[in-house]
Amino acid sequence: MDGGQGFRDFKAFNMTLVGKNWWRMHRNPDLLLSRVYQSVYFPRGDLWNARKGGRPNYAWSSLWKTRWLFDEESVWRVGNGKTIRVSDNRWLPQGSPLVYREEEASTLGVVHVSNLMLPGRMCWNADLIRHIFWPPTAEGILKIPLPMVPRDDVMAWPHTINGEYTSKSGYVVARNKVLHGTSSSSLALQVPPVVWKVLWSTHTLPRCRELIWRGCLKILPTRGALCSRGLDVDDLCPWCAVQPKTAAHEIFFCPVVKRWWFASSLGLRLDDEMEFHEFVAEFFSRADEGCISRFCELCYIFWEARNRLVFDGVVHDGVVVFASCLACQPTSKCFSCPSSSGAASFGFIARNENGEVLAAATKPAMACLSPLLAEAEAFRWNMGLALELGFRVVMMERDCKALHDAWFKKDKGCSYLFSVISDCNDLASSFASFGFYFVRRTGNKVVDLLAKHAGDFGDSVRRRSPLLHAVCP
Ligand SMILES: [Zn+2]
Repeated sequence: MDGGQGFRDFKAFNMTLVGKNWWRMHRNPDLLLSRVYQSVYFPRGDLWNARKGGRPNYAWSSLWKTRWLFDEESVWRVGNGKTIRVSDNRWLPQGSPLVYREEEASTLGVVHVSNLMLPGRMCWNADLIRHIFWPPTAEGILKIPLPMVPRDDVMAWPHTINGEYTSKSGYVVARNKVLHGTSSSSLALQVPPVVWKVLWSTHTLPRCRELIWRGCLKILPTRGALCSRGLDVDDLCPWCAVQPKTAAHEIFFCPVVKRWWFASSLGLRLDDEMEFHEFVAEFFSRADEGCISRFCELCYIFWEARNRLVFDGVVHDGVVVFASCLACQPTSKCFSCPSSSGAASFGFIARNENGEVLAAATKPAMACLSPLLAEAEAFRWNMGLALELGFRVVMMERDCKALHDAWFKKDKGCSYLFSVISDCNDLASSFASFGFYFVRRTGNKVVDLLAKHAGDFGDSVRRRSPLLHAVCP
């Protein structure tokens, strides 16, 4: 604990304990506690519409004080999307800012999240979403797993696997907020929305736009950022070998790079170091469209030069960097965004009791919110296939321990993981007998191989096809 257990820790600790009661009331509106408060403070409506009241009693006041933690942190988990308003509620995955064409959306009648689904189906309307939302946000939305059957939307706590609030996770978040005024999930909110709007409408290459987006969200792999995440690299700036004060140092404020900015057609004079998003917001508010698109290109070129130095040891002098500015076609692939799509491929193989293969299937690149969710979605897909193939007695083997644990957990949560697992539960009841077994990764080699080749085989189920001979000789 930095600074010891001081007053701030105590304040955070206290709040997180009281927070447990707020969460209990949210999750169990029928509790006596909830009903007593409801009758006084929110007779019509739910906890989230409650008022503090003119003369609140002591217990309600202290409950009220924890409310901001949930207001700022908890996130809607989409079930049927009918209660979630696209623009007013927190429902987007972490790191996806709410940037969209508002007029277009209202013309198309998009008010609730349910309007973004295909009518009558539990399926995202991908064309509509990509048309309305800023591309990174659209891809984030498409990763949200929808349940197979409509379920209620639920407010979930994003800092635990099962989506339920715990005082331990609450303490970490509250303490960070009290100490630093921020939490990791609120970064997207610190950036003024106008920045995203300008960035979206600027004529520039997508890779330049993505670079700035990542810079603003502090997810650029600068050395300082890697160190703060515990990676064993030195945190000195590759250009000037001084410890940078901000994440923006390597692209803007390093004395080496500053010279280039000044010499560029923008003639920028950069003095005080500030945060990446602050500087971008400042620049966007003053510059015209042409300058902004030039600015985006230059950021990319300087970042690329930095990467060539870090990874290939190539030291640019200003002349070379500017030659590439003029040609303006950076070709190096040094800056590969760590697959922002988060795509996963699925494999499936069914054998009978004698070990003979009955069927196999692959599903190429599905974008998922996390590796664990990808496992859960693969699990659900596998069960659907087994049902489709008419199997009655199923023993499912998977090599993901966390999924196995979640499946057997008695207290279900309200995260997306448990939404997918609920679907699996429903599917399991359709079999005469269903078992879920954890096997080591080596026991699951064939499925791994299938998943790897999913791109070659496409999205189909095959019984005794050439595919099977390829993977199970
Ligand atoms: Zn430097």
